[in-house]
Amino acid sequence: MNSARIPNNWRDRLPDAAAYYGPRVAKLGQPNGSGYAVGLCPFHDDHNPSFGVKLSSGRGHWRCYSGCGKGDMVEFHQRLTGLDFRAAVRELIGGGA
Ligand SMILES: [Zn+2]
Repeated sequence: MNSARIPNNWRDRLPDAAAYYGPRVAKLGQPNGSGYAVGLCPFHDDHNPSFGVKLSSGRGHWRCYSGCGKGDMVEFHQRLTGLDFRAAVRELIGGGA
């Protein structure tokens, strides 16, 4: 299963960033004028929203202001699930959520 190829157009098939991050980032707020929304970082014990994610772009680029790093939707999904890159992509484009 892990050796299966991922389609070349996987970037176009990623789920909507708001739909993806909404259930996964606690207290995710409304995007600001630049398209960034802020919520609680799922990668550290966050009590003061320090996770910013760009909901207006398909790749869903995120950054943790407390030092957990940054990345795109695939990296976020990998970190959350422990899947490798291709498995993460397949899960993202497969079910949409
Ligand atoms: Zn963090």
